[in-house]
Amino acid sequence: MKIGVLALQGTFIEHEKMLEKLGADCVELRKAENLEQDFDGLVLPGGESTVQGKLLRELGMYEILKEKIENGMPVLATCAGMILLAENLENDELKHFGTLPVCVKRNAYGRQLGSFHTEAEVKGIGIVPMTFIRAPYVESAEKNVEVLAVVEGKTVGVRYGNQLAFAFHPELDEDIRIHQKFLDIVKDSV
Ligand code: GLN
Repeated sequence: MKIGVLALQGTFIEHEKMLEKLGADCVELRKAENLEQDFDGLVLPGGESTVQGKLLRELGMYEILKEKIENGMPVLATCAGMILLAENLENDELKHFGTLPVCVKRNAYGRQLGSFHTEAEVKGIGIVPMTFIRAPYVESAEKNVEVLAVVEGKTVGVRYGNQLAFAFHPELDEDIRIHQKFLDIVKDSV
């Protein structure tokens, strides 16, 4: 199984380490040329969505990746990655892939709670550690979006078809079950 990891900026190395621990091969996606090879799933890491979105367009990667996602390629998106997928952003005029029918609020926890750690349930997985760093949350979602995790009344994990999106950073904790779940989805789709 080969996973393409968007490697323009952010926590891509942490995702790669985790996926490799689980036996997947990773390829770094840094430029349009890298998208010519075959890969079975896509990871959109945490970081800064505005920078990532800008680079995706400048490097000619945006359309190709959007089409792959629309055609059902499994995606694991964390934090900034969730913002890249969202169909609407509550506090930003710019939207990116727009393949996930949710409205996401960026930097949603305000300054004081910019970063925090907690543990909570992810549906189908159990209690997992959750590291939030200037995180977004899902403000509203279409009916056919499955809510996977809620923290303090805010939706922080969703699934829509093969797209998995989390507001926190599973790649920064030791728990491997979210990545395992993603690889299971990839396996089912190959
Ligand atoms: N605040 C960032 C953004 O708006 C996301 C933060 C993160 O990925 N940790 O893109």
